[in-house]
Amino acid sequence: MTESTDLTRMTAARLASVVATGDASAVEVAQAHLDRITAVDAAVHAFLHVDTAGALAAAGAVDAARAAGGAAALGPLAGVPLALKDVLTMEGIPTTCGSKILEGWRPAYDATVTRRLKEAGVVILGKTNMDEFAMGSSTEHSAYGPTHNPWDLTRIPGGSGGGSAAAVASYEAPLAIGTDTGGSIRQPAAVTGTVGIKPTYGGVSRYGLVALASSLDQAGPCARTVLDAALLHAVIAGHDPLDSTSIDLPVPPVVEAARHPDVRGMRVGVVRELTGDGYQAGVQQRFDESVALLEELGAEVVEVSCPHFPYALAAYYLILPSECSSNLAKFDGMRFGLRAGDDGTRSVEEVMGRTRATGFGDEAIRRIMLGTYALSAGYYDAYYGSAQKVRTLVTRDFAAAFEQVDVLVSPTAPTTAFKLGAKLDDPLAMYLNDVATIPANLAGTPGLSLPIGLAPEDGLPVGLQVMAPVLADHLLYRVGGALEAAMLDRWGAPILDGAPAL
Ligand code: GLN
Repeated sequence: MTESTDLTRMTAARLASVVATGDASAVEVAQAHLDRITAVDAAVHAFLHVDTAGALAAAGAVDAARAAGGAAALGPLAGVPLALKDVLTMEGIPTTCGSKILEGWRPAYDATVTRRLKEAGVVILGKTNMDEFAMGSSTEHSAYGPTHNPWDLTRIPGGSGGGSAAAVASYEAPLAIGTDTGGSIRQPAAVTGTVGIKPTYGGVSRYGLVALASSLDQAGPCARTVLDAALLHAVIAGHDPLDSTSIDLPVPPVVEAARHPDVRGMRVGVVRELTGDGYQAGVQQRFDESVALLEELGAEVVEVSCPHFPYALAAYYLILPSECSSNLAKFDGMRFGLRAGDDGTRSVEEVMGRTRATGFGDEAIRRIMLGTYALSAGYYDAYYGSAQKVRTLVTRDFAAAFEQVDVLVSPTAPTTAFKLGAKLDDPLAMYLNDVATIPANLAGTPGLSLPIGLAPEDGLPVGLQVMAPVLADHLLYRVGGALEAAMLDRWGAPILDGAPAL
């Protein structure tokens, strides 16, 4: 097959039109991606579960709908395959969250995101690998082994949603769903050369998203182009009465923004505290070039200071463990998945202890212990209370910045993809990967990561982050889309047309 007719190389937008016009059936599209998974996933390990029968059945239903009602019966992503992060429930399909403690659990219900995807005719190929309960920046904390970066199989794909990003980068799926509590959509996007968006907190329902830190968690799109991400964003976003923090307002006009990207007259702020020291030279270089390009495109670029951003990481690593120590208490061996040591002679407490000791990995245990400590009597004000105050200061930094500029930009991650194993024994080094992404989670603001080229020193992808005010998600797509188009123009070909290693 030539490049242009290879279904796995097409964008989601193109695949949807191919299916709508009947140039290929949804079943053919699904089969092409399932074949690609068979060919490369032994090396990449993006998937924890591939639902071949379910995907083909869903694709068959799209073909039947088209046969009955014509193209008009299909939504904008009907027949397009997608990989779903294993932290979202899907009825009857294993959902492990990358943990042994949920091994064997098949949820009885669909997450709202899953339900909306199904209703839109999106073909769910399977569940993707992730750090256990979404704690990590490398996918190495998965109980089922790491995912490999399709650009260099000896390197990490980012985390926690490394499986979703790697599936998209390796052409196993044109689209994926990730979740972002501290950067788990954006940082994997940056290091795999893909596009990832964390919507405004409350923009996408958390119902059926297994909670890590409920005040931070947000599901969002992963794709190879800005428009594809916008199309997916529009399908999954919108009010849901099943999630009490879901925003009951119209979804920002993300698709329109992605179709008409334009930065002329926009004010773009470079966050002083998120550049320079600590950022890899090639990351900084590509970032500076992209900022210059934004200026050439007609944006007004200024430097903006967000003085409390340097404290965001420390605050996050108190707030997140506190919330997760509470959220993960429900995994006790009684209701879901694993139960260890229940031989009929042991007490409930002993069985719970054994289940947790065998079922949770080191990082989960570390955070549960940290969070329990931070919330304990006598320490609550000093740790959790102080962290919440810092969270308010970070939110105020955003508010002050957005009085001066329309959007903020920074590198998404301080470095390109590092080697598997390099930071596994050094939790603080691992946590530092999130230094630029965490502020947006603390404030609930939306953020996008866009591939902006390869770092000269190692030839690996670099991501630029765009941040916008709450409910101005469309601005991410306006800026991301404009930069993407300008880069394609300049280099004459998609500079990051997927990963070359496979
Ligand atoms: N890497 C961050 C952490 O380990 C982010 C996780 C996430 O966004 N789910 O907490």
